[in-house]
Amino acid sequence: MQPRYKRILLKLSGESLMGDKSFGLDPAMIARYAQSIREIHDLGVEIAIVIGGGNIYRGMNEAETGIQRAQGDYMGMLATVINGMALQAGLEKEGMFTRLQSAIKMEQIAEPYIRRRAIRHLEKKRLVIFGAGTGNPYFTTDTAGSLRAIEIQADVILKGTRVDGIYTADPEKDPTATKYDTITFNECIQKNLKVMDMTAFTLCMENQLPIIVFDMNKEGNLKKVVMGEEVGTLVKG
Ligand code: UDP
Repeated sequence: MQPRYKRILLKLSGESLMGDKSFGLDPAMIARYAQSIREIHDLGVEIAIVIGGGNIYRGMNEAETGIQRAQGDYMGMLATVINGMALQAGLEKEGMFTRLQSAIKMEQIAEPYIRRRAIRHLEKKRLVIFGAGTGNPYFTTDTAGSLRAIEIQADVILKGTRVDGIYTADPEKDPTATKYDTITFNECIQKNLKVMDMTAFTLCMENQLPIIVFDMNKEGNLKKVVMGEEVGTLVKG
């Protein structure tokens, strides 16, 4: 059986790296993710990763912090680089070759983001982690994920979350909520379902890039998604 997708972009939130902690990084979580990622790397899938930074810093309310929004956002971008480095270490422990590319130059620890170079790494089966989001304030790492996925011509963006897909309503508040296996971009807009922020979502819609939302914490799920099994929710045109 061949995997359904040849090249993927995996988007992980910073918070997912916290595990049971309330802040920062949980090494056990990183090790688990690295193992799941190795399973799909073994299938020959080309893997790019965008990681968030919310477990360390989120560009916060200016009124609360006294830090201007743009300044806070740059701090958030730096947080994604810390997470990227931690994930890189975990992936290399599992025996994979990786490159960290940053949208903000910091040559001692990461390559600058160069699209063609990233593609070359992927062709050589190196994992590429994109750090520092888009490099611009007022964006999110979901937008960075959509943008990079389109740039490297990934077949799909896999949004690994703690829930197992998109529901008709919030399943924690409404027990009658049911999960969509497949849904179109337009339906998400009509039904006001939040898959990603609008900037990230529109980028995917306009470029016909399918999104799969799935539970990354369930063992074996990432491999199932890549093999085309019906896990999570597929959003497409
Ligand atoms: N950020 C930004 N531009 C980007 C990506 C991220 O300014 O292109 C900042 C923003 O402040 C954001 C923070 O970095 O709140 C962390 O990223 P995000 O909230 O997307 O992380 P996640 O929720 O996935 O952990």
